[in-house]
Amino acid sequence: MRLKGKTALITGAGSGIGRESALLFAREGARVVVADVADDPGKDVVADIEAEGGQAAFVHADVSSPDDAQEMVAFAERTFDGLDVLFNNAGISHPADDDAVSTALDVWEQTMAINLRGVFLGCKYGLPALRRRGGGVVINTASFVATLGAATPQLAYTASKGGVLALTRELAVIHARENIRVIALSPGPLRTELLMKYLDTEEKRQRRLVHIPMGRFGEAAEIAKAALFLASDDSSFLTGTNFLVDGGITAAYVTPESQ
Ligand code: NAD
Repeated sequence: MRLKGKTALITGAGSGIGRESALLFAREGARVVVADVADDPGKDVVADIEAEGGQAAFVHADVSSPDDAQEMVAFAERTFDGLDVLFNNAGISHPADDDAVSTALDVWEQTMAINLRGVFLGCKYGLPALRRRGGGVVINTASFVATLGAATPQLAYTASKGGVLALTRELAVIHARENIRVIALSPGPLRTELLMKYLDTEEKRQRRLVHIPMGRFGEAAEIAKAALFLASDDSSFLTGTNFLVDGGITAAYVTPESQ
């Protein structure tokens, strides 16, 4: 068991990567705080973990709210006696997010509030809790789009994830001597709700798959396995990294399919 005796708080744990990570971390011995703005899916994850004999608790939290961010960390410390792993995973992709000319200011603000301010607030309240524990790990979910540009833009989303990378690097340097590791996890295109709601026809999916050397979308469970590695002592000399798990998309200039 790679997380035995550890407490992990995962935001956006009601769905996709967060849900799979919560289930996997619990199987590896962690007590898991499932934080989400969606109550029913979050409570379902807790029930699924408990049905497998694991330990978990749900806390309602909108990561863009300072009060909620503070309370989710306090809840973790109250409920499970401390915090060892903070996984800032919650994020949105707004349907009206486009290029600079077309993207409305409120779409930009909402995306930044959840994807970037949410990570900042998680760190603001989570880092003191890790300090109280004598160390720990912060994993911030970025994206392959923080590394690559696309002609089908999602400017606010891309900029928010670029911010997550920069913030992660700096925090890793600040806290390295405190036994706190801070890592960005950048998934490639995944077969989760967040992306598939846009790629809703076979033609659209194929157009995207052409760019992925592996020729398939990733699964949330594959990202959860990477998160487990990052959360555990197996990655003890790793901090400040942009950990890409992307089917080779950022390595590709041309792929076999696009030639
Ligand atoms: P998802 O939509 O399946 O799950 C996201 C979860 O976050 C949901 O349970 C949702 O309720 C929750 N959430 C949304 N806003 C919230 C808020 N303000 N406060 C708390 N919780 C909130 O998405 P996913 O694919 O699992 O994505 C998880 C993370 O991975 C996101 O940060 C996303 O940007 C990133 N990511 C996803 C992909 C992909 O292709 N799916 C690729 C790269 C990065």
